[in-house]
Amino acid sequence: MDKISKKFLFDYLNNSSPTGFEASGQQIWLDYIKPYINDYMVDVYGTAVGIINPKAKYKVVIEAHADEISWFVNYITEEGYIYVRRNGGSDHQIAPSMRVNIYGDKGVVKGVFGWPAIHVRDAAKEETPSLKNIFIDIGAESKKEVEAMGVHVGSVAVFQDELIELNKNYFTGRALDNRMGGYMIAEVARRLHEKKKKLPFGLYIVNAVQEEIGLRGAEMISRRLKPDLAICTDVTHDTQSPMYNKKESGNMKCGNGPVLCYGPAVQNNVLKMLIEVAQKKKIPFQRQAVSRSTGTDTDSFAYSAEGVASGLISLPLKYMHTTVETVHKEDVENVINLIYEVLLQVKPGHDFRYIK
Ligand SMILES: [Zn+2]
Repeated sequence: MDKISKKFLFDYLNNSSPTGFEASGQQIWLDYIKPYINDYMVDVYGTAVGIINPKAKYKVVIEAHADEISWFVNYITEEGYIYVRRNGGSDHQIAPSMRVNIYGDKGVVKGVFGWPAIHVRDAAKEETPSLKNIFIDIGAESKKEVEAMGVHVGSVAVFQDELIELNKNYFTGRALDNRMGGYMIAEVARRLHEKKKKLPFGLYIVNAVQEEIGLRGAEMISRRLKPDLAICTDVTHDTQSPMYNKKESGNMKCGNGPVLCYGPAVQNNVLKMLIEVAQKKKIPFQRQAVSRSTGTDTDSFAYSAEGVASGLISLPLKYMHTTVETVHKEDVENVINLIYEVLLQVKPGHDFRYIK
């Protein structure tokens, strides 16, 4: 990762891009990849697509999702305390004592999730944090003052934590799920450009919105693009840290390489191609099985229109949907490398069907 990549990574990750409100992040992302693409498009809900060879008939997608989990202001008490609901799978357990940025009509308002002091809690029947009791305090004395500060029902609150480096090998922060994916696919575009590789097909570098509430952005853009092949990225659970269960969740470890997913939405010949490239190029990888769906944008691509040959490359990540999501730097590089090498060997017209 050179200085330019690192600056982009920190700018992109430290920006807020809540589900449904991804535009500022998409702008940062597009500005970064513009020198490496021939064209781009955005759809009405904000999915951004960088395009190489826009006229080519055979279309390949590489994909990540641009949105991050957040909270909606849902109810403001007369005393000026704010109750929230989820926008995506935000974690109530981690909320108390967190600081938030609320995006109000008059700009960003600072807030905190308050919690009663340990001294006054009844140890015998301690309440655990839930949507019923967590609340945000923005320092207002009344509902009127909250509203005067530009915060209203529907305003979005995002934890304020930013990206840091953890020891030598790790990045830690908020919403690495899946803006690390946006970073990785952008780096693939940059690498193709800098190594002057000419692709014999159309490459669509898709940064989809609204994954966290049901894979919606990918659903929309997959129907529009109707690609021949889609390689999606997302994060998956590292299961090595305390309290994870390998028997239930599988055995994945940060630092052991990209995770390749087995599941019905993953087209087996696409998966085979990913594995063969990884083996040939000596890129480490891990395996994961999912039941029914992958729970990623892969499902949206796979099951769109007439079905798109789709594969999933996941980045192992610790502590998903907390503000300390953690990934290994080598895994990030290996995902970029794997996507890059896969693209270099795809031939236009590649037919992934099982029976021909
Ligand atoms: Zn997520």
